[in-house]
Amino acid sequence: MRFYSEKTALEHLAEVRRQFADQIRNGFEHAAKDCQTCETKGACCLDAHFVNVRITRLEAVAIVREIERLPVGKQEAIRKKVFDTVERFGLENAAAHSKETFACPLFERDTGCLVHGTAKPLPCIAHACYERKEDLPPDELLQEAEVRVYEISRRTYGSTALPKPLPVGLKQLL
Ligand code: SF4
Ligand code: SF4
Repeated sequence: MRFYSEKTALEHLAEVRRQFADQIRNGFEHAAKDCQTCETKGACCLDAHFVNVRITRLEAVAIVREIERLPVGKQEAIRKKVFDTVERFGLENAAAHSKETFACPLFERDTGCLVHGTAKPLPCIAHACYERKEDLPPDELLQEAEVRVYEISRRTYGSTALPKPLPVGLKQLL
């Protein structure tokens, strides 16, 4: 099996994310509510009973790289939020397919998702508010993209560890 360098893997991840975002945008988003007009902006990211985003090590690396571009004080504030979230929601030992949910530490009231245009996880790209269930993107579309990312991550770090809750994945690198 050929392994990827981290740099190559991050490029592959960006391409999977780009293709997936195109599929969602072109095929489904027209039927979803426009987030710009949302009266409860960010509810989807802060609802501690709903958010259960899991990420691979590679996605965590991509997100941490974006955090590292921010001013030092801001980086420290995010680091603290990530650690607090793991603690508050008891995520440390959460299994990949477990139901533990959390309020996402990457959501900022003034700017929204900190990694919106750069390293947003696949389930977040897929998520929108649809009035009709039949308009939602099929689960298989997300699963296919997640399998591709898992495989790239596995061929980069040689680990078969399953994706972790986002705050746990970040905590291990921050
Ligand atoms: S996904 Fe839904 S809850 Fe979140 S900002 Fe968009 S419309 Fe609002
Ligand atoms: S990663 Fe971004 S879009 Fe996803 S739950 Fe967190 S703040 Fe929301």
